[in-house]
Amino acid sequence: MPTVDLAGLSIHAVSIAGVETCIEVPSWKLCFDIGKCPDSATRWGTVLFTHGHADHIGGVVHHVGTREMRKQKAPRYLLPKEYAANFDRLMDAWRALDHAALECEVVPVAPGDRIDLGKGRSAHVFRSVHRVPTCGYAIEESRRHLKPEWVGRGDEAIRAARAAGIAVHDDDPSVELVFCGDTTIHVVEREAIVRKARRLILEATFLDDRVSRDWARRSGHVHLEDIVERADLFENEAILLTHFSQRYSPREIREIVAKRLPASLKGRVQVLTDAS
Ligand SMILES: [Zn+2]
Ligand SMILES: [Zn+2]
Repeated sequence: MPTVDLAGLSIHAVSIAGVETCIEVPSWKLCFDIGKCPDSATRWGTVLFTHGHADHIGGVVHHVGTREMRKQKAPRYLLPKEYAANFDRLMDAWRALDHAALECEVVPVAPGDRIDLGKGRSAHVFRSVHRVPTCGYAIEESRRHLKPEWVGRGDEAIRAARAAGIAVHDDDPSVELVFCGDTTIHVVEREAIVRKARRLILEATFLDDRVSRDWARRSGHVHLEDIVERADLFENEAILLTHFSQRYSPREIREIVAKRLPASLKGRVQVLTDAS
C-alpha cells in the first residue's frame, strides 16, 4: 500500500474503483472508508465513511473485530445518516454470527454537521454528488498562536496575563484536508471548501475516451477531462487523484494524467497507484 507525501502530510492509502478504498492519515490517527481492511487501518480508532458501497465500507467488520480481539478501544464511525439503520442491522447480524460484542460508536452525519475529532481538529460534513447518498469531509485544524501584541513580551508576562484571565492567544482555523469520496465533478463547483482546502483528495475514476464523460457523470464519478476543463477552480496547494478504474494500468494513469493536465495543475497533482 503506497504512502504519499501530500504537502507535508503523510497519506497511506489504497483506492481502486469498485475494489477498495481506504485513506489513512497516520499522524491524525484516523482513516476515510474501509473497503477491505488493511491491517494498518486497524490502528485507527476513528473512521469517516462516505457512503454505503461495499468498496468503501465492506471491511468494517474486520476493523471492529480485530480491534476487539487486540483489546483496543471501541472505534468511532462517522457515517451518513441514511445508512445508520442498515449499518446497525449489519453489525447485529455480525454479532450473532461471530458471537462477539463488536462494540462501536456510530455517529450519523448530515451535510452541514461539524464533528469534533479532538486535538483541535474537526470534520465539516458536505454533500458529494454520487448515485447514492454520499458525504465528503473537510478536516479543519485550529492552530493557536500568540496575539501580535504579546509577541516578544516574555513567558512571565504571558503567564501572568493568562492567570488574570486575559486572552493572549488567537485560534487560527485552517482546512487542512478534504476527502470527497465518490462524486461527480459538481462537488467542486458546489462546495467552496473543496476548492479552497489546503489539500484535496479527489476521485478521478475515468481518464480517457474508453469511458465517456457522460457515462462518468451518470455513474456518479469524475472524468479527468472534467478536471482539465475546471482547472482554474482549484486553489489547493496539493491534490491527490484516486479511485482509478482497473482498466488503466499504473503506467497509463501516470502518462494520461501528465499529458492532459494543464501546467497550472501539474505541479500540484499526484496520482495514487500501486506504484506511488
Ligand atoms: Zn467507489
Ligand atoms: Zn460509490
